[in-house]
Amino acid sequence: MNQETLALHYGYDKQQFGTMSVPIYQTTAYDFGSAETAANRFALKELGPIYTRLNNPTTDVLEARIAALENGEAAIATASGQAAIFFAIANLAEAGDNILVAKKIYGGATTLLTHTIKRFGITAKVFESDNADDLEALIDDKTKAIFFETLSNPQIAIPNIEKIVAIAQKYNIITVADNTVATPILFQPLNHGIDVSVHSASKYISGQGSAIGGLIVEAKGLNAKLIGNPRYPHFNEPDESYHGLVYADLPFPIFSLRIRLSLIRDIGATIAPFNSWLLIQGLETLSLRVKEHSRNAYKVASFLKSHPKVKKVSYPGLESDPLHVRAKQYFTDAQTSGLLSFEVEDLEFAKHILNSTKIFSVVVNIGDSKSIITHPASTTHQQLSVEELEKAGVKAGLIRLSIGLENADDLIHDLKIALG
Ligand SMILES: *Cc1c(COP(=O)(O)O)cnc(C)c1O
Repeated sequence: MNQETLALHYGYDKQQFGTMSVPIYQTTAYDFGSAETAANRFALKELGPIYTRLNNPTTDVLEARIAALENGEAAIATASGQAAIFFAIANLAEAGDNILVAKKIYGGATTLLTHTIKRFGITAKVFESDNADDLEALIDDKTKAIFFETLSNPQIAIPNIEKIVAIAQKYNIITVADNTVATPILFQPLNHGIDVSVHSASKYISGQGSAIGGLIVEAKGLNAKLIGNPRYPHFNEPDESYHGLVYADLPFPIFSLRIRLSLIRDIGATIAPFNSWLLIQGLETLSLRVKEHSRNAYKVASFLKSHPKVKKVSYPGLESDPLHVRAKQYFTDAQTSGLLSFEVEDLEFAKHILNSTKIFSVVVNIGDSKSIITHPASTTHQQLSVEELEKAGVKAGLIRLSIGLENADDLIHDLKIALG
């Protein structure tokens, strides 16, 4: 089946209750019915709901659906995108290990993976993902994961995915890619040899800025890469926290199972059933929305490109963009979502534009159906000096847009007046 159909039907049997909408299982716990069933569930002799911190039937549908949309083996939902990134990495690396992290990624992922994770004894080495020329030299025996974004927020960069995957395969290292901005509609990481994809479902998947959630999807065949791989002994040796269970011996997708049975169980960043339900609604229309976001962004980018007061436009979907070759190589119809950035003369003019637009909201978020405008130099990157801003590629006159689902002509009109 194709993605549009899977997004509407996969993972839910309507005959069960006859409801068209997936029911919300707003429950903490489940009645096992008998002591034997309870024992069997805990012993993994049969899989079934135990307690909502571990699993929930509404969340099961969300997990099955995202796995199907990305052609993955299994998925696990988390309380947020940040939790998804943390669990994916903490499932591979532990104290004394290192991870390789792309330079151009989301700010929250940078602080998590290069600062906070140090407290757990894991160190990050940053690599240039545009070309990945420095990646191989950073690898050692303790390297447990390579992390990058398929379409980065906010830089709108597209890494050299082929090269990163080839190097990871050479050294039997697991790749984790954040596919939040591209979504499964524009890019399917697991079909390109990436092992694990993670999402902030709070963005395009939610679609209407109404829920925080995260997703982790494991590739088909990932068990074979983990079983017997000396880099990942904890999948192959007894887990003392689970009666000496050896994940490699189980007939299940062990990457996500180990997150469920240890990380989610113990750390507890679980998604609420109602948020799972909201994200299921989001998935139903994701393909329509993402294509329309991209078409709208293309029109706005083309307008900005032709405006005399705009110095530069970054949108890989535009034929003239330096990243268009990669957009064509990797992304469905070379579409690259609703994210774009442009540069004007200086800080004052940038602020004037933010204050003059009527339709765009001044917000730090992306992927909402409502259009958003941000000025990084005065918000997300405020602490940096002028020189540091230049180094980070954040010019004082840089403006970022998350193009929504309004009529593109109205958005263009709004920007035209603001630009004066
Ligand atoms: C927003 C975002 C995150 C963090 O997700 P939350 O759901 O806000 O925790 C991670 N990665 C990317 C690319 C994002 O845009």
